[in-house]
Amino acid sequence: RLQLEGITKAFGQTQVLDGIDLHVREGEFVSILGPSGAGKSTLFQLLIGGIRPDRGTIRFDGTPLAAGEGRFAFMPQRDALMPWRNILDNATLGLEVQGMSRAKARGRVLPLLADFGLQGFERHYPAQLSGGMRQRAALLRTVVQDREMLLLDEPFGALDALTRTSMQRWLEAMWKRHRWTALLITHDVREAVYLSDRIYVLSARPAQVLHEIRVPLPRPRAAGFQEASAIEA
Ligand code: ATP
Ligand code: MG
Repeated sequence: RLQLEGITKAFGQTQVLDGIDLHVREGEFVSILGPSGAGKSTLFQLLIGGIRPDRGTIRFDGTPLAAGEGRFAFMPQRDALMPWRNILDNATLGLEVQGMSRAKARGRVLPLLADFGLQGFERHYPAQLSGGMRQRAALLRTVVQDREMLLLDEPFGALDALTRTSMQRWLEAMWKRHRWTALLITHDVREAVYLSDRIYVLSARPAQVLHEIRVPLPRPRAAGFQEASAIEA
């Protein structure tokens, strides 16, 4: 479905990506692990067309990816929410951009607020929420969209261990139900192992693919899974 070949990118004198080859098949969940500053978020910027590669090709379903094609539901690493929109209107934004009416978009978002721990906070503005709540609102906005592929840039980075575990379980259940095609950036090895079919491990900048790992089934349980279940019980 998505295929990157020989992707190279420099910002001025700084070489960031050095010949990245990776692919994601339809219905596959793939994670990218790599040190801070390696160039992981830069890779997503190339996919969504924010910047162009210096060398290399990006194909989607066999054809070169054009900028602004809108195939991806993208959750950026930070500053995902519009500060002047409340949480409900932020969550519906992605669907509205796709042309859905706000009323219909709300109908899709409202039933999910409880799953995301955001019930009762619909009318709050991003600045009135914790970092973890903002992150969950951004994730909600991303997963409700009707796009061909999910791009998640450290979606659980600001969450405490327990909330993270519950959001990982939610994401896994949803991924199984909808057969999403997804590419996830994370620093959390256990999270990558729990959620992914395959993992790419990148080197420090300039990033190259060091390892490609197929996760064996059945997947190990998420970090803290047993502890979280014990507390819920
Ligand atoms: P982290 O795990 O900390 O999020 P990352 O792997 O996502 O790191 P990037 O954000 O892709 O790393 O940044 C990689 C390198 O590219 C950094 O050295 C950064 O300073 C540089 N960089 C990123 N975007 C730009 C830009 N628009 N202009 C100049 N340099 C940039
Ligand atoms: Mg990043």
